[in-house]
Amino acid sequence: MLYPQHLTKYTKEHADILAALVCGVLLFFGWFALHLGWLGWAILLLSAAYVIGGYESAREGITTLIKEKELDVDLLMIVAAVGAASLGLWRREYHLIIDGAILILIFAISGALEGYAMGRTERSIRSLMSLTPDTARVLHQGQEQMLPINQLKVGDEIVIKPGELIPTDGIIVSGYSTINQAAITGESLPVEKTIGEEVFAGTLNGYGALKLKIHKPAASNLIQRVIQLVEEAQESAPPSQEFIAKFERGYAKVIVVVGILLAILPPFILAWDWETTIYRALTFLVVASPCALTAAIMPALLSGIANGARQGILFKNGAQLENMGKVRAIAIDKTGTLTTGQVQVSQVIATDEYTQVDVLTTAAALESFSEHPIAKAVVQAASDLNWEHGTDVQAIPGQGIVGMLNNQNITLGNAAFVQLYVTKLPQKLQDLAHSWEYEGKTVVWLAQNTQVMGAIAIADMIRPEATATIRRLRQLGVEQIVMITGDNQRTAQTVAQAVGITQVYAELLPEDKLNLIRSLQKQYHTVAMVGDGINDAPALAQATVGIAMGGAGSDVALETADIVLIADRLEKIVVAMELGRRSQSIIKQNITFALTSIILLMLANFLGNINLPIGVIGHEGSTVLVTLNGLRLLRRF
Ligand code: ADP
Ligand code: MG
Repeated sequence: MLYPQHLTKYTKEHADILAALVCGVLLFFGWFALHLGWLGWAILLLSAAYVIGGYESAREGITTLIKEKELDVDLLMIVAAVGAASLGLWRREYHLIIDGAILILIFAISGALEGYAMGRTERSIRSLMSLTPDTARVLHQGQEQMLPINQLKVGDEIVIKPGELIPTDGIIVSGYSTINQAAITGESLPVEKTIGEEVFAGTLNGYGALKLKIHKPAASNLIQRVIQLVEEAQESAPPSQEFIAKFERGYAKVIVVVGILLAILPPFILAWDWETTIYRALTFLVVASPCALTAAIMPALLSGIANGARQGILFKNGAQLENMGKVRAIAIDKTGTLTTGQVQVSQVIATDEYTQVDVLTTAAALESFSEHPIAKAVVQAASDLNWEHGTDVQAIPGQGIVGMLNNQNITLGNAAFVQLYVTKLPQKLQDLAHSWEYEGKTVVWLAQNTQVMGAIAIADMIRPEATATIRRLRQLGVEQIVMITGDNQRTAQTVAQAVGITQVYAELLPEDKLNLIRSLQKQYHTVAMVGDGINDAPALAQATVGIAMGGAGSDVALETADIVLIADRLEKIVVAMELGRRSQSIIKQNITFALTSIILLMLANFLGNINLPIGVIGHEGSTVLVTLNGLRLLRRF
């Protein structure tokens, strides 16, 4: 009746419910027959109730016993029920047979309920998947043709009509539309997309007609990867769950030993009669079983993960959901994280020997090889000019890029980096650069051999939600929020001030970011890092919780981070943290409640205040309650 055997299919849920119903009906008629004094009929009907209601638990219990050599709660229940029935037959106390059957009935009902609850979590995740259509309208020699998704090839062009669901990830080659990406980002506000931009399977096209070129196989669609990650998350038990599972195994053995002692000793020590003794030992088996404890964690975490997935927050496992609730310090990257990363060249200056066009075209010759946001801005700005690609181009993450053009060494990057190659940056240009940096712009320098050619100022936009997010994080009690960036101190300061961050660490190389996370961990223990780029990957991996701006799908981010913000919206950090805290508090409530009810039921049983059916109701009731309490995390807030 318990997790994880109960990640059941829909049909099995139905079978379980049906079995419980039939068991209930048989029990009722058996009880009736007993009252009329039809003993034979009563025993027949009640036996049928035992078999039908208890079959599933017996099967699971025996499988666990044989396969894993472990005792589980299912088996304890069956033993208790059969024990009660035997006692009843032996002492001719037939109401005990009814007690055992009630035990089986309640056990079957709660098993079915839990199965249903877990199924609901599963379905909530699966509903993501059902959003993608399974055919696409492919353009083939000017003709439209409906083809199944798995027959599409990279390079095919497909047509999307207004109002249609997009069947697979692709790049827009013609058309313009607004797209509702709620299925993958949870964000219901449509986003505008046009030629050159990527659209995702499962999202909904607005009023425009679009032509897409397929640039990757359907199996690697973003939504497929999301589903896969969520499924992996479901399978990996967090440490707290493993602890409980281990505890449960030892505990079950203790219960059996104590149960046996309780069935033997009391007549000698406490002068109980044998019937009372055995009856109470059986009740003990039932109430002491740790069902509620086992159901305390996983349903809650799975619900939390499912809830996150629906809002564009991808938790790779339950442990990260728990950790996110404990974060005490956060380090946030600047470019692409606090800012949109949709950067634009705002100024270009050249030294006396060169022109602005020289500077832009030479920079573009190298940047055309890079994926960095700065690179995209430079190439964009040079798109109307004539230039050639450089050769031997090499990107140095966090610093810049080097390469050859017309047999000259070209260097492009931040001041410190370019200064490694040139003797001195001209004072006039430096003054200008500093003034731009105070405006929050990023300045990159360009050099040919040992000679400075000029500098390019790049403007980035602070994400509109950044300031409010930082404020919320502080309200939530995050003790330390720092900005870490590879960009220079002045630019970093300006941006930090604008969003309300006081601690700034600038001019960091990827390994410096990693070390900074380490030192934060020494002080604050649970540290989150939010980033977007390759240069953030080591720090993301080191942080207790690495959070990546999904940028709707950057691979490095998806792989390294523990949590991916598919929506690329900074405020989702706050939602993730609230979700983490709620999960934590629900789990704490559950564990406290489960332990308390087990102890109370054991005490009541020992003092002789409960009978078997009441014991079962208390036991199963508490299990169902903790499961339902966990399911509260499915609700959006
Ligand atoms: P952040 O940490 O803010 O995300 P990066 O670590 O990616 O920034 O880059 C740090 C700095 O290194 C940039 O501000 C820029 O000056 C320089 N830089 C890195 N890559 C490039 C590039 N491809 N072209 C020019 N400059 C670069
Ligand atoms: Mg970055």
